[in-house]
Amino acid sequence: MTRLSELSTPQRRAVEAIREIAAEKNLRPYLVGGPVRDLLHGSRTIDVDVTLEEGAPELARALAKRIEGRVRSFPQFLTYKVTAEGFPEIDITTARKERYRVPGALPIVSEGSLKDDLIRRDFSVNAIALGLLDEKTHDPTNGEQDIRDRLIRVLHDQSFRDDPTRIFRAVRLATRLGFTIEPHTASLMKEAIESRALETVSRERIWREVFLAMDEHEAPAVLAALHEQCALDVLFGCRHNPELRAQLDGVRARIEKDPSLDRYVIYTGLLLRGDASPVDFEGSGFSQKRARAVVEIANELPRFHEALEHVKNERQRFRLYRGVSPEMLTVVAVERPDERPRIDRWREYKQFTIQLRGNDLEVPTGPHIAKALERTREAVFNGEIEPDQARTYAREMAKKYLAREEKA
Ligand code: ATP
Ligand code: MG
Repeated sequence: MTRLSELSTPQRRAVEAIREIAAEKNLRPYLVGGPVRDLLHGSRTIDVDVTLEEGAPELARALAKRIEGRVRSFPQFLTYKVTAEGFPEIDITTARKERYRVPGALPIVSEGSLKDDLIRRDFSVNAIALGLLDEKTHDPTNGEQDIRDRLIRVLHDQSFRDDPTRIFRAVRLATRLGFTIEPHTASLMKEAIESRALETVSRERIWREVFLAMDEHEAPAVLAALHEQCALDVLFGCRHNPELRAQLDGVRARIEKDPSLDRYVIYTGLLLRGDASPVDFEGSGFSQKRARAVVEIANELPRFHEALEHVKNERQRFRLYRGVSPEMLTVVAVERPDERPRIDRWREYKQFTIQLRGNDLEVPTGPHIAKALERTREAVFNGEIEPDQARTYAREMAKKYLAREEKA
């Protein structure tokens, strides 16, 4: 078995360093969770998660020294994080047992065996360990078979009640891997959602899951599935939007072309389509400005479309565009194919610059200068004047605006 050799270079270098140290110090580290799942499934993995029954602090410190990185300790999770230039993030944890005293709250953690550590996990596909020295797999819940069958399966019937964030994890992972949620697991999930298990979790933790869903490449599919299964009702109340999936797909295509767009704002705006209010954002950590942009998308699209019907020329249209966020315009572009070329043109215009400063105009300073420069930029962009006429044109405009100001 040479699975470890299938890791990509930075991960492989990390694993090799860990193996060397383990051999020297007689430790028994296991690769666990996501990376093992991805290796067995043949998909790309990013993190390196390692568990040991004994010697986690020793390994973490020695590793940090060997790869010239640093180590941070998170005692409440029995975890050490090692980071170093040119290496992935490496988590080294002591194998642990978890106990949920109250559904939805964080578990009580104590040291345990490798098996304890595997059976406390969310899904069988994430509950496999791979010995780093002997490359033997430890698979107490038949995760390898589920990977072959492409199934997401919880490990016991209480799983979603203990930790309802697993509802989000199940949908996210199934969508990412193209797996199916195994029927019994799906019925437990439905039951948990219907019995409002998510209400036992803090809004902050749920928002974190929502943002993780938005980080996925297949975010539209994940969000639409969560919406359909009413998993988002706990944040936003019950909503129906049969167009949601198409809208999400449409904006994703534009977000991919322009990474400066705030995808969290756009996706949330679409999820809240119809009406949004400040209570919806509790726990999200959205700044006021971003929350306003979400509300704009959720509440003001009909009025914006209506206003667009009444514009008479490009200047009026650009004035309307200027009044809203780029995220709002992205949704408009998706919904109104006829408007799209003009919005693209506006975005081009916003990026467009001319090599001219206020000082170049030799006109007394004041607000007329900025206005004249802006008008000139517009004139060059529209082809009303040639770039080499910009300075003369701007000076004329500045004088004209100044005269107007003086009259007023
Ligand atoms: P990703 O590629 O998204 O990082 P991952 O499986 O590595 O996927 P993480 O969130 O990094 O996911 O978690 C690491 C491992 O910890 C998981 O594979 C799983 O075994 C376990 N885990 C994470 N969250 C939970 C949870 N809520 N309940 C039980 N086990 C969990
Ligand atoms: Mg991970």
